Amino acid sequence: MVDNQFSTLYILGVAFSKMTMQESLLFFEKRLDKEIPTHIVTANPEIVMYGNHHPDYLQLLQKVDIVIPDGIGVLIASKKWGKAAIPERVAGFDLLLELMKVANEKGSKVFLLGADEEVNEASFKRLEEDYPNAKLVGRYNGFFKKNEEEHVLNRIMETKPDILFVALGFPKQEEWIAIHKDTLHIPIMMGVGGSFDVLAGKVKRAPLIWQKIGLEWLYRVLQEPRRWKRVLVLPLFLIKAFLLPKRYHKR
Ligand code: UDP
Repeated sequence: MVDNQFSTLYILGVAFSKMTMQESLLFFEKRLDKEIPTHIVTANPEIVMYGNHHPDYLQLLQKVDIVIPDGIGVLIASKKWGKAAIPERVAGFDLLLELMKVANEKGSKVFLLGADEEVNEASFKRLEEDYPNAKLVGRYNGFFKKNEEEHVLNRIMETKPDILFVALGFPKQEEWIAIHKDTLHIPIMMGVGGSFDVLAGKVKRAPLIWQKIGLEWLYRVLQEPRRWKRVLVLPLFLIKAFLLPKRYHKR
């Protein structure tokens, strides 16, 4: 792995990083130290399928700095490539916590954007308590109106964060980061979906055993039944990934 290069595997047009959690962290630390703006997307089958139906979003996924394999379905699909398969799942929530450890060691500045006001505030307090050396420099809830956008951007830029976590849900958070990446010029910008809801204790993360046997998604559906429709794309994703000849995955 040389500096900003890392190996990838294309699945349905999306280039997934093949780095393990540890390798990813080394990569992000380098980008932090060199202050190179990095847009991180943690993608699961749902996101890939959304991209396959929305060309603009697929193009966005192809332009971001790194797509992390979050979701057991991505790992299963990658087995089509045998020995070249993706070695491990890097869950978005785990990556957030690992990046907070890095921020704690380095005294990096962190800004939290997204989720409702209560959740945003509770996440901020929790991270402040758990990572006392990281500097939690600012926060803003994710329900701002279009005419507040400039104010939000200014709030973020005033605090000069090293890490910006954006919890607006997909595809909104990826689109938002992509639009503002150059203006913000922040080393680590990562879409974190529902992670603040977990940090704030509003939603429970699946117990480790569920995660280990690849059923975190099922635990989530049982907890939030309104999500059941969203996981229906998982079998479709796997069928498409396995049926499509390898050469068509890279496009
Ligand atoms: N959210 C937000 N602004 C919006 C829409 C959503 O801040 O306009 C937040 C919402 O409160 C939740 C997160 O974005 O905290 C989305 O969580 P979800 O688990 O649905 O993420 P996804 O799986 O869609 O990425």
